Amino acid sequence: MKIHEFQAKELFKKFDIPIPRGKAAFTVDEAKKVAAELGTFPVVVKAQIHAGGRGKGGGVKLAKSAAEAEKYIKQILGMTLVTHQTGPEGKVVKKLLVEEGLNIAKELYMAILPDRSNSTILLMASEAGGMDIEEVAAKTPEKLIKVWVNPAVGFQPYNARALAYQLNFDPEVTKQFITMAGKLYDLFMKYDCSLLEINPLVITKEKKLIALDAKINFDDNALYRHKDVVEFRDLNEEDALEVEASKYNINYIKLDGNIGNMVNGAGLAMATMDTIKLAGASPANFLDVGGGASAEMVENGFRILLSDKNVKGVLINIFGGILRCDILANGVVEAAKKVKLTVPVVIRMKGTNVEQGKKILEESGLPLTVAKDVWDAAEKVAAIAKKAKN
Ligand code: GDP
Ligand code: MN
Repeated sequence: MKIHEFQAKELFKKFDIPIPRGKAAFTVDEAKKVAAELGTFPVVVKAQIHAGGRGKGGGVKLAKSAAEAEKYIKQILGMTLVTHQTGPEGKVVKKLLVEEGLNIAKELYMAILPDRSNSTILLMASEAGGMDIEEVAAKTPEKLIKVWVNPAVGFQPYNARALAYQLNFDPEVTKQFITMAGKLYDLFMKYDCSLLEINPLVITKEKKLIALDAKINFDDNALYRHKDVVEFRDLNEEDALEVEASKYNINYIKLDGNIGNMVNGAGLAMATMDTIKLAGASPANFLDVGGGASAEMVENGFRILLSDKNVKGVLINIFGGILRCDILANGVVEAAKKVKLTVPVVIRMKGTNVEQGKKILEESGLPLTVAKDVWDAAEKVAAIAKKAKN
C-alpha cells in the first residue's frame, strides 16, 4: 500500500526524524491559513498524489510571498498533474502539503528496502540526490552507496558510518545521519515497510539534516497489524476497478492490453497471460478469482473485467477442481446475462464435470465460444483482438 508524503511525514515525526514544519490542506483557504501560520517565507506548496516526479511536473512550487503562495495554491489544487509515474492521463490533485522553505546546501538520496536476493535490509544513499535520481541509477550506479543490514542482528551505528564516510559528510552531519538512519530503520521494521525513500534528504546551510520528501510503501500482507496505516488509505489514488475488486477479495490488476481474462489460481493466471502474449495479443488485466472461486465471484469478476472500456474480448480459463465445471458454467451464463455481454468471450475449461459444463455454455444462446484447449483459446482471442484493432 502507498501513502501520501504528508502521511509518511507524520510517521517520521512519530519517530523523531527531522522534517520541515508544515501541514496538509484540502482547500484553498486551509492552505492559505497554513502558509500564514508558518510565519516565514519562502513556503513550499506541494501536490499530494501517490506518484513521484511532482517537482518536474509543476506540482512543487516555492513561494516568496503570501500573494505568490495563493497563486500556487490555486494553481496546484485541482490541477491534473502529469509526471513520469502517473501515465499520460495524470492525476487530479486533491490535497496539498504546505511547508516552510529551507535553505538547501545539498540534496542527497536515501532509501531502505528489503534485498530479497540475500534476505537482508538494504540501506542505499547517494550524494547525487534530487529530481534526477533515476538517471543517476541508470548512468552512474556507482554513485549509489549500499550497505546491507542483517535483520537478525539489527541496525548498528557502523552500518550508517560506512555510508556516511562514502557520502563525504563533515562530522557534524555524520552524527545526525547515524541517528537518523537508526530511526528510519526502526520505522521501516516496526511498520513492515516494503520501501522507504527520502529524495531529497537535505543538508541545510545551517548544517541540519532534514527529510524534505518522504515516500513509504507497506507490505499489504502485514497491514492487519497496522490499523493506523490502514487509516491512511486513499481510495482516490487507487484504480477504481482495483478498489472494487478488493471488496470481493478478487485479485485484480489492471494492465494496458485489450483482452480481459479471468482465471482461477494465480499460477494459471500468469501462464494464461503469457499464452495470450504468445498468441500475439495483450492482456487487459490480471484476474485471479481464487482456487475455490464461487459462482458469485465469477459474476463479480466478470462485471469488473467488462467495466474496463479497453476490453475487446475475454478469455476465461478455468480448471474445475474445487469448483466443478458445471457449477462454474452456470455462474458464467448467469453473470453474462446480468452484465449484458457486449464483447466476445472464449472459454477454456478442464476438470470435474467438464462435459456438462461445456453443454451448459453451448446451449446458453450467448456469444460464448468454447475452446478445445488453452492454445486454441488464446488463438481465438488473439483473432478477436486483431479484428478490434483494424
Ligand atoms: P518529487 O519531485 O515528487 O520527488 O517532489 P520533492 O518533494 O522531492 O520536491 C521536488 C524538488 O523541489 C526538490 O528536489 C527540491 O529541489 C525542491 N524543494 C522542495 N522543497 C523545497 C524547499 O523547502 N526549498 C527549496 N529551495 N527547494 C525545495
Ligand atoms: Mn522527491
